[in-house]
Amino acid sequence: MNCSSLVIALLATVVAGFASAARGAGIDLSAHRLVDLTHPFDDRTLYWPTSPSTFKLERLSYGTTPGGWFYAANALCAPEHGGTHLDAPIHFGEGRHTADQVPLEQLVAPAVVIDVSAKTAADRDYRLTRQDVLDFERRHARIAPGTIVLLRTGWGRFWPDRKAYLGDDTPNDASKLSFPSYGEDAARILVEERRAAALGVDVASIDYGRSQDFIVHRVAAAANVPGFENLAGLEALPPRGATVIALPMKIAGGSGGPLRAIALVPKR
Ligand SMILES: [Zn+2]
Repeated sequence: MNCSSLVIALLATVVAGFASAARGAGIDLSAHRLVDLTHPFDDRTLYWPTSPSTFKLERLSYGTTPGGWFYAANALCAPEHGGTHLDAPIHFGEGRHTADQVPLEQLVAPAVVIDVSAKTAADRDYRLTRQDVLDFERRHARIAPGTIVLLRTGWGRFWPDRKAYLGDDTPNDASKLSFPSYGEDAARILVEERRAAALGVDVASIDYGRSQDFIVHRVAAAANVPGFENLAGLEALPPRGATVIALPMKIAGGSGGPLRAIALVPKR
């Protein structure tokens, strides 16, 4: 091997190395299942009992045009907070990130799923505890900074039955709600110590239904950590290994908004 062919061979090795490193660093979609984490938006979509309006889809056009082709278009109107949606940090934190300001790194990240569905089956007002987080980490390793933490209560199976899902269906009254979610001490370890990218849950709020002080919202907002509420499909995710892509409508100055969230789950 002469000098130039040695250089070429070395270059080829280096290039091949970069190529395989790039493959390793990329996402091979054929090796993943795609899981939809969003409930559809329609006239059954649940909003907070005190919400003055709900999701509305107004038909603007549907049918054959004078030119002979088909054309459909609608107008939509909805409160930011309802259905599967983002809570931007400004929702409970003055001066914190608005919907359009949440860094993409907090919306696209590895996820862990903490399953408390056995505990919520016995207590519908169950709140995730610090000990639950530590128990999860003992089995599945420490939660790394930048992880999207998802809490699986099992409540997704009640959607969109208002009474079963929210615990009460009295119009304009949020004082008798009853559903599980995060507790304050769990939120503090996840947000302040583990530096979670976001907190997601398959109920209507990252605070449990009986909350009057919304302390989990306040702890998360103070650290610019967004919330994902009314998630679907958490039962299809492993405790760790999934990657979540949770992209809200980019509402300038918004306090939240409709969220299309999916997960990539390795098939192996
Ligand atoms: Zn919200």
